Amino acid sequence: MKNSKLVQYYMLGKGCFARLPELLEQREKATSLSGSVLVIDHFFQGKNILDLSFLSSADLVIWADTTHEPTTDYVDELADKVKASLPRPSAIVGIGGGSALDIAKAISVLLTNPGKSAEYQGWDLVKNPPVYKIGIPTIAGTGAEFTRTAVLTGPVKKLGINSDYSVYEQVILDADLLKTVPHEQFVYTAMDCFVHNCESLLGMQNDAMTIAMAQKSSDMIKEVFLGEMDHEKLLIASSMGGLAIANSNVGICHPFSYGLGYVLGLHHAFAICVAFNQLGEYYPEVETFKKILHKNNIVLPKIITDGITSEQLDHMAELTLMNEKPLSNAFGPDWRNVFGKDRVIELLKRM
Ligand code: NAD
Ligand code: ZN
Repeated sequence: MKNSKLVQYYMLGKGCFARLPELLEQREKATSLSGSVLVIDHFFQGKNILDLSFLSSADLVIWADTTHEPTTDYVDELADKVKASLPRPSAIVGIGGGSALDIAKAISVLLTNPGKSAEYQGWDLVKNPPVYKIGIPTIAGTGAEFTRTAVLTGPVKKLGINSDYSVYEQVILDADLLKTVPHEQFVYTAMDCFVHNCESLLGMQNDAMTIAMAQKSSDMIKEVFLGEMDHEKLLIASSMGGLAIANSNVGICHPFSYGLGYVLGLHHAFAICVAFNQLGEYYPEVETFKKILHKNNIVLPKIITDGITSEQLDHMAELTLMNEKPLSNAFGPDWRNVFGKDRVIELLKRM
């Protein structure tokens, strides 16, 4: 039986971002350290959306460039920057979507553990407790604010730093921070959550708690995208989806998205949509997913076209099949007998 680590504290409500200074002050008092590191999605740079007037010269702001999803090299570079100017912060705050939240998690690990981030990609490789961290999502869906992974694209593959040390100590859920998300981005990132839920519900590694959270999370996503937009509901759906997936595993769709993302540079949530759209034989909820896209005016382009070489296809299939844990969650320990390379390439060609 798993022993699941959870976020210690969360705060929920419009405007609760304003409580961040108070939390940081408490932290400074408790640690006798001064200065925090704020890793903020570059979307907010130069805009008057976040009130950062509480920052002092002791604090360090890192504007995270999320044009591309985080790589191990980029995270190492940022961690070196932090080590050079504020090596012992009282806290690290991640503010943004899944990318910025994961970058902040990885930096918090690298400040107390030697070496490079790629050395920690895998399961339970982090040895020393990281710097205390606060996660503040500004897009809903990945659930990164509640999971025990920091997903990074490394030299060989995309893989998370999966560790209890990747769990935020404090989360702030303020729907006001989501106001500027473009509608299309809302749908894509929320579909990542919807797919996490489907994979966790139909996988073999779930439990009764996971099932309850994944079901409720999916219900809320349907209410929002087939009914009325509600940012707070989306934040809650994302949190519950994160808790559900943290306690189970992804399935068939995520391995495809990792291959598509790595070889073609597609963003995670978009790659998830492209893959899930063709997985109706495995997931009945693909029908609902298609309804959601239709209702929200999203038409997915065909990605695997004549321009893709057979080497690229082969590479994507290899990367898909490297995901042993998710595939055994989906099909059981003998997954190789039912899900081979030919099948993967056949499905890829439809995407
Ligand atoms: P993202 O963080 O990559 O951001 C997408 C875009 O939205 C960026 O251009 C960003 O600048 C912009 N943005 C962020 N907040 C905004 C706001 N409030 N208004 C307007 N624009 C805003 O997107 P995402 O889908 O949240 O995250 C994807 C990443 O999360 C991937 O790297 C994926 O691998 C990772 N992920 C992590 C977990 C986990 O458990 N750690 C789970 C799923 C996905
Ligand atoms: Zn995902």
